[in-house]
Amino acid sequence: MPEKLGMVAVVGGGVIGVCLAYELRKRGAEVTLIDREEPGSGCSFGNSGAISPSSIAPLAMPGVLKSVPGMLRNPESPLYLPWGYLPQALPWLGRFVWSARRASVDASAKSLAALHEAAVSRHQALAREVGVPELILQRGHLHLYPDENTLAKDAAGWRLREKYGFQFERIDRDGIVALEPGINPRYRIGMFLADHATVRNPYRYVQAIFHKFLEIGGQVSRADVRALQPAAAGGWRLDTAAGAQTAQHVVVAAGAWSRRLLDPLGVKLALETQRGYHVQFQGESSPVSRTVVLADRKVFVAPMEAGLRVGGTVEIGGLRLASNPRRAEVLLRIARETFQGLEHQPFSTWMGHRPCMADSVPVIGPVAGRTGLWLAVGHGHLGLTDSAHTAELIANSLFGDR
Ligand SMILES: Cc1cc2nc3c(=O)[nH]c(=O)nc-3n(C[C@H](O)[C@H](O)[C@H](O)COP(=O)(O)OP(=O)(O)OC[C@H]3O[C@@H](n4cnc5c(N)ncnc54)[C@H](O)[C@@H]3O)c2cc1C
Repeated sequence: MPEKLGMVAVVGGGVIGVCLAYELRKRGAEVTLIDREEPGSGCSFGNSGAISPSSIAPLAMPGVLKSVPGMLRNPESPLYLPWGYLPQALPWLGRFVWSARRASVDASAKSLAALHEAAVSRHQALAREVGVPELILQRGHLHLYPDENTLAKDAAGWRLREKYGFQFERIDRDGIVALEPGINPRYRIGMFLADHATVRNPYRYVQAIFHKFLEIGGQVSRADVRALQPAAAGGWRLDTAAGAQTAQHVVVAAGAWSRRLLDPLGVKLALETQRGYHVQFQGESSPVSRTVVLADRKVFVAPMEAGLRVGGTVEIGGLRLASNPRRAEVLLRIARETFQGLEHQPFSTWMGHRPCMADSVPVIGPVAGRTGLWLAVGHGHLGLTDSAHTAELIANSLFGDR
């Protein structure tokens, strides 16, 4: 079968492309992974490490939309759109608003539930296979709320979790302290998802998968792919600064940059980047022992190998705008307000480009009418969670199993 498949080029070495390249190679395919940077150094570098199978509520929920206008005006709110980027963002924003209809929300939740299926066990198996089982922390996720009002704002999301059979437990202040003694007294209500997990170093995880891919015979090419074109002899031609390459199949897994390759082919995706930030404190100790979500502030807090990481925020600012230090400062301030002992701890900051579809559902599979062209794009806020399953789905399809 692999012989018939021919060469598969995977464009993009983020967590999606690397998982896919490894899965295909494992099944015997000839695979070249192409990235202009070191694999894992895009959005997959600095995420919060949460494996969140129950996060099935799309971002565009009816409740969220009511608060959007206020968020757009305030550069310190969890969602921010700089005015200068508004004209470019408008078409996507229109699709985003349209996706908040009840029918669309239900459809997105259903797709996401299917895609998140068995996410934790898939990653446990993958981490074992590539020799880094210690990176998967299985201590659950704790979502925190100060009061009933803030919890009520997320009620639709919790109802969806319930509907799809995800297990969680509501706990009070004593329950919160029993799990995480260092939590600020302002948090009175917790929702605990005991079977969720955390990757304690997302970059090291991607690198471990990448090195295993090389070890079993995968090939890598450090190149910027500038254009894709059907090749005269069948398959695809990939134009790069260093010359052209050909492959029978091309999978575009170029994250937030994918439209640059797809637009010229007439493949139009409602893909926009939502820039997110993190603050990484240095020092192995962490005031939390599992992923904690400060739900009222839309901030994820995780005990990474290197120390506490505080991540989140959405900034719709495109691919070119420089990162905005104010966004990371907000995270820093929230961290210091919430946990003691961080005032003098050294830290670094980072910004990454989440690849986001308007309806929060990634696009995975072959492109109709473009034989040999495949997409694994738009994983938004949950690309780490969905990477292993996405790889399996595309590999199944490519090998003709499904
Ligand atoms: C602050 C933050 C927190 C997050 N937290 C979580 C979380 O807790 N859990 C979770 O599941 N997800 C989380 N995410 C989302 C997750 O990180 C992304 O969904 C995921 O990294 C997307 O992976 P990707 O492989 O599609 O893109 P990327 O990791 O961005 O990879 C794309 C790659 O393609 C390469 N590339 C692009 N164009 C070209 C080209 N033309 N030629 C060659 N190479 C190219 C880039 O160099 C890059 O390496 C978070 C994101 C952010 C920003």
